[in-house]
Amino acid sequence: MGPDSYYEILGVSRNADDKEIKKAYRNLARKYHPDVCKEPGAEERFKKINEAYSVLSDPQKRAQYDRMGHEAYSNASRGSYTGGGGFSGGFSADFSGFGDIFETFFGGGFGGGTRQRAGPRPGADLLMKMEVTLEEAVFGAEKEISLDHIEPCPACDGSGSETRKFTTCPTCGGSGQMRQASQSIFGSFVRMSTCTACGGRGKVPESPCKTCGGSGHRRARQTVKVKIPPGVDTGMRLRMEGYGDAGEYGAPSGDLYIEISVAPHEKFTRRGDDLETTVDITPAQAALGSRVEVQTIDGRTVVLDIPAGVQHNTGLRIPGEGVRWQTKPGDMLVRVRIVVPTRLTDEERELYGRLLEIEGHKPLARGTKKGKGFFQDVVDKVKESVK
Ligand SMILES: [Zn+2]
Ligand SMILES: [Zn+2]
Repeated sequence: MGPDSYYEILGVSRNADDKEIKKAYRNLARKYHPDVCKEPGAEERFKKINEAYSVLSDPQKRAQYDRMGHEAYSNASRGSYTGGGGFSGGFSADFSGFGDIFETFFGGGFGGGTRQRAGPRPGADLLMKMEVTLEEAVFGAEKEISLDHIEPCPACDGSGSETRKFTTCPTCGGSGQMRQASQSIFGSFVRMSTCTACGGRGKVPESPCKTCGGSGHRRARQTVKVKIPPGVDTGMRLRMEGYGDAGEYGAPSGDLYIEISVAPHEKFTRRGDDLETTVDITPAQAALGSRVEVQTIDGRTVVLDIPAGVQHNTGLRIPGEGVRWQTKPGDMLVRVRIVVPTRLTDEERELYGRLLEIEGHKPLARGTKKGKGFFQDVVDKVKESVK
């Protein structure tokens, strides 16, 4: 069975509008929020709902998701763990905790912001930004990144206990929960919260590990191979399952999210799946039409026929030379710029002069060849008054 699509997760149709998506998300997020829902698997479900919403609520991401399909969009990025290794430069990296959308969406008004949960806590998700070249975004790439994360302590296998054995927590008597009574104007409340002595596990290490002080964790640098699928664009996030911080003993690790930003290219501008470039031609080429050569993004040369009478700024399309997808590639858009020569040979001057005559236009008066005529004076004056 393949993974559910984001549409299926939110229970909306493929052509649902923003309103429907938001409504579906709101209902599901309320239902499956871990503070509210105690069903097994609610947390995983809640995570998926957030993930689906973060993509479908963003028109750009949604369009990409629709084109790439679920598999490619969410899974293509799973890399392999190589452990250790030096830092490879060439891109900027920053790390931060990755709060869930729910918190910002509901303003933390739900459950007072403290999450109460029984059992070991899963590890935190990490977010890292990565800059790629346009070529890498178009063709896909494999990159190695290094980042610090929390991993299980090797001395105690992440248990925090020298002997790998545990005893019942004396603070909470093994329930993992603590009662806190508080007084307020509405009366007295008893609030259950996670036991601080055992972190909700109900057990404490028999003899705390000397290497990690009983936490079971250590901070370490990991090297991760990231497979960037072809077609990625700025703002897209790749998810690498299990590459985030280690969880408490017995709980899964968090995920690593890599947010892509595509660096500007000197020749090509991306427009959706199309790649736009420019070609300079002379007025003669524009009037008569001409065959020119243009470079594609992967450095090949293709021949482009510019039709006679082409106007400045016209876009000509070369199919299939844009951003590559498994399904349908984008096109290359060649924008024609008619560049008027500023320096003419004697022969060219003569021929242009002849053209001017045929068109019935008056040439500049003699002695004003360098462009300083009555009209230019007016232009200069206008420019002066604009300043
Ligand atoms: Zn340890
Ligand atoms: Zn306890």
